[in-house]
Amino acid sequence: KAKKTIGKKFEFFSEDSYKEISKILFLKGKIRDVIQKNSIKMFYQPIVQLQNNSIFGLESLFRLITSNGKIIMPQEIIPVAEETGLIVELGQKILDSVLDFSKKLPEKIKLSVNISPVQFNKTGFDDELIKNIKDRDINPEKLILEITESAIMSNISDKIRRIKKLKDFGIQIALDDFGTGYSSLNYLKRFPIDYLKIDISFVSGIGKDKSDEMIVKTIISMAKNLNMMTIAEGIENEQQLRFLRYEGCDFGQGYYFGKPASHNEILKLTDKNSL
Ligand code: C2E
Ligand code: MG
Ligand code: MG
Ligand code: MG
Repeated sequence: KAKKTIGKKFEFFSEDSYKEISKILFLKGKIRDVIQKNSIKMFYQPIVQLQNNSIFGLESLFRLITSNGKIIMPQEIIPVAEETGLIVELGQKILDSVLDFSKKLPEKIKLSVNISPVQFNKTGFDDELIKNIKDRDINPEKLILEITESAIMSNISDKIRRIKKLKDFGIQIALDDFGTGYSSLNYLKRFPIDYLKIDISFVSGIGKDKSDEMIVKTIISMAKNLNMMTIAEGIENEQQLRFLRYEGCDFGQGYYFGKPASHNEILKLTDKNSL
C-alpha cells in the first residue's frame, strides 16, 4: 500500500506495491484490449447428471489469453475488472460470446454463466439480457445465471423482483459457491432459486473430513426441502462421486468428468454425439 510522508509532498511505494500496481495496470490494459477487439475466449466445463452420467450442461469460464499465449485465470482478472468497473462491459461481452455459442449446441444442453455482483446489480441488467436473448432468438431455458450470495443479500426485495423477472422469462438461477457466504437461511427460502452449487471446499473434504461430509449432506437435504436442485463443484474422484450420488445430489462437475475446455474441443465432443 502507498505510504504518505508527513509532509505529503511525496508518496513512496514499496517495491512490492510498485509491482502490484504495474500488474493491475497491465491487467486493466488486457481487459480493455479484449473488450475493444471483441476477442473473448470462454472455456466450458461439463455439468453432469449424477444419476446417469449424462451431460446436463456446460459452465462457461473466462480465460484471458495474452499475445504470447499465456493464460490469465479469472481469479486474477475478474477482481481487477470489478474494481475498475470494466466488469460491466466485459460481462456483457462474455454473455454475448456464450449466447452465440449456445446456438451451436444441441437444444437440451444448458449453458451456465457466472455473473459478477457488480454486473447483476447494475440498473437495467435484467431488461438488457432479456432483450439480448429475444434479439438472438435463443430459448431462454438454455441459460443458467450463476450469482453469489453477496450479489443478493442486500436490498433483498429488489433482488427478488429482479430474479423473478428473469425466471418468468425462462432463465434459471444458480447460487454459486453456496456455503461460503453469509446468506441467512430465512432469506434464502424467499428467493426463487433453481440450483445451489455446493462449493468445492466442501466437496474436496468428502472422504477426509466428517464435518465437510455433514455440510454437504445438509445442503442437499435443505435444497430438497426448499425445492431447489444441487450441483456439486470440483468432483475429482470416484469416492466423492459415490458419496454425492448416494446422498442424492442432482448434478456435478469437476476434473473427474472433464476440465474446462476450449470452444472447439467442446464442439468436437458434440460432434462425436457424446453430449
Ligand atoms: P466458480 O464459478 O466457482 O467456478 C468453478 C472453478 O472451479 C473454476 O475455476 C473451475 O475451473 C474450477 N474447477 C472445476 N472443477 C475443478 C476440480 O475438479 N478441481 C479444482 N481444483 N477446480 C475445479 P476458474 O475457471 O479458475 O474460475 C474461478 C472463478 O472465477 C469462478 O469460480 C468464478 O467465480 C469466476 N469466474 C470465472 N469465469 C467467470 C466469468 O465469466 N464471469 C465472472 N464474473 N466470473 C467468472
Ligand atoms: Mg460458477
Ligand atoms: Mg462455484
Ligand atoms: Mg467455487
